[in-house]
Amino acid sequence: MSVDAIIIGAGQAGPPLAGRLTAAGMRVALVERKLVGGTCVNTGCMPTKTLIASARAMHLARRGREFGVVTGEIAFDMKVAAARAHEVTRNARESNEAWLGSVDGLTFLRGHARLTGPSTVLVGNQMLSAPRIFLNVGGRASIPDVPGIGEVPYLDNSDMVALERVPSTSSSSAGATSASSSRRCTAASARA
Ligand SMILES: Cc1cc2nc3c(=O)[nH]c(=O)nc-3n(C[C@H](O)[C@H](O)[C@H](O)COP(=O)(O)OP(=O)(O)OC[C@H]3O[C@@H](n4cnc5c(N)ncnc54)[C@H](O)[C@@H]3O)c2cc1C
Repeated sequence: MSVDAIIIGAGQAGPPLAGRLTAAGMRVALVERKLVGGTCVNTGCMPTKTLIASARAMHLARRGREFGVVTGEIAFDMKVAAARAHEVTRNARESNEAWLGSVDGLTFLRGHARLTGPSTVLVGNQMLSAPRIFLNVGGRASIPDVPGIGEVPYLDNSDMVALERVPSTSSSSAGATSASSSRRCTAASARA
């Protein structure tokens, strides 16, 4: 398939770029190997902020009496909190997918894209060619070389947002993700 531009990665930057290029009259192929929406939608901003919102609700419920709100026993159901986060994520991903399917001039392909030359990309058995190739392949968690990290279980951002129970505070698990996400997710667990 020959197009005007190939974009690898349908995370935060790929789809808006595809929208701009097709609006300018180009034929574009956008390739995603995993989940549309990339890190932010699936394992980053959205699920972590949704879990933090649950932790905040729990925190306020515990402080209810200070505000004159008297409730019964307060408990945290991590399964419900996780299901809510997954739903928010799924809705965002599906709306991104629907949008991709509606853009004239855009071909969306699922698969791992490999550069095979200055103007060619292989996706499965399909060869794509274009004079412009945009790499929007994002990032992934980097495990810091902390002494002892190989001897304890640890969680990166993808593991954290897949949790269905609050980790025990006495557990030896460590969080291994970017400083900001570690802080945020640890806060969500600790408050819960
Ligand atoms: C825990 C956490 C919390 C965060 N919270 C926030 C926040 O609150 N606010 C904020 O602004 N940012 C936040 N971020 C950062 C934000 O998620 C990233 O900045 C953003 O997702 C980067 O977008 P991107 O399009 O560059 O990459 P990504 O979203 O990572 O997308 C890249 C895509 O490329 C695909 N891909 C990679 N290689 C190939 C290949 N060879 N073939 C096909 N597809 C490929 C991947 O599957 C992925 O879908 C957070 C990140 C994390 C980890």
